[in-house]
Amino acid sequence: MRVRIHRGTKEIGGTCIELESGEARILLDLGLPLNGDPDEPALYPPIEGLNGGSDLLALILSHGHADHFGLAHLAGPHLPVALGAATHRILKAAAPFVPNPYLPKKAIEFTDGVPLEFGPFRVTPHLVDHSAYDAYALEVEADGQRLFYSGDIRAHGRKGALFERLIARPPRSVDVMLMEGSSFGRLDPTQVFPEESVVEQRFVDLFQDTDGLALVAASAQNIDRMVSLYRACKRTGRTLVIDLYSAEILRATGNPNIPQSGWSNIAVYIPHYQRVQIKRSARFDLLEQHKSQRIFADQLKALAPRAAILFRPAMLNDLDRAECLSGAKAIWSQWDGYLKQERGLTLLSSLADRNIPVDHAHTSGHASIIDLKRLAEAVAPKMLVPIHTYEPQQFPEHFKAVSLKNDGEWWKVPHDH
Ligand SMILES: [Zn+2]
Ligand SMILES: [Zn+2]
Repeated sequence: MRVRIHRGTKEIGGTCIELESGEARILLDLGLPLNGDPDEPALYPPIEGLNGGSDLLALILSHGHADHFGLAHLAGPHLPVALGAATHRILKAAAPFVPNPYLPKKAIEFTDGVPLEFGPFRVTPHLVDHSAYDAYALEVEADGQRLFYSGDIRAHGRKGALFERLIARPPRSVDVMLMEGSSFGRLDPTQVFPEESVVEQRFVDLFQDTDGLALVAASAQNIDRMVSLYRACKRTGRTLVIDLYSAEILRATGNPNIPQSGWSNIAVYIPHYQRVQIKRSARFDLLEQHKSQRIFADQLKALAPRAAILFRPAMLNDLDRAECLSGAKAIWSQWDGYLKQERGLTLLSSLADRNIPVDHAHTSGHASIIDLKRLAEAVAPKMLVPIHTYEPQQFPEHFKAVSLKNDGEWWKVPHDH
């Protein structure tokens, strides 16, 4: 088997791995570089046969984050695109609400542990804990060799048991592991990230310390975080107010244990910009789907001291008009790097104009270095290649059998049994 990492040997974002066995090839992920423009051809990796009908047999997506699928629109209508079944549903649910929706034209849905065959390649998805729902590590067998790609992975989320399962029963005889290293350069090697349950407790503490509406800026697609938010609301007697997009994402999980718009302490408020989106896309069925707990602007003021709203900067005008911001507090529940970018700075000044204080409650979607060491020791690959990291040169200090690669270069999976 031959391997070419198009992007990711020295950066986070834009992950794309091409594998070749004989004449056949497959791709693992086709991501957009961070802050990249999906319409910028200079960012497109030079991959032959994306239109299908050639020796490129499939694109397999590890999970639904744009840095892993954000260039998947380059795959033509004949190329099979394999992705998790829930990831596919979430992409469909998001489509009416996002500027450049992506839906694979020829989708193959997969589930945990069920292998897929593409010519000489056998690909087994392993469900993992990550901040994206339905995220997978991918095990690829071809030519009697085995490659294991961690995808994005962590051990401290609500599905940490999946990480423990993986290291208790790792894939055997792995020749090459491509392992993410997002935390290098962001976290001291001896430190750990807080568990998701700690974020829940932080929400509880902050809600108890807030007289008015709690404005929580979190990603609706971070389902672990949505669960933390819901549980913290329940523990503090607050109603969780979500928008139509979030209600649809939660529904798309297809998981009855995940909070849903019809639950009694959840309310659905549809901000002006979403009413415009619904009108434009004529998706009035979505209003019908989530109408049972719908509330309107004139109810927000009375509800505010007993509510937390999943907050988007674009709803600030709605909340102003509803006069529901007295005593409000904002809680930033995403990567704080976003707050240093232009849109984040604009949001901070909008909140400051309204005397709304900002607190933080977050944990990483990526494994600590301590957990990465546990993974590397369990899998014990013959060769470990850093990917999805800004600090590949730190790997040899922490792991055995590290081999540093460059973007765009082909290399062989070694035969040294
Ligand atoms: Zn991710
Ligand atoms: Zn990623």
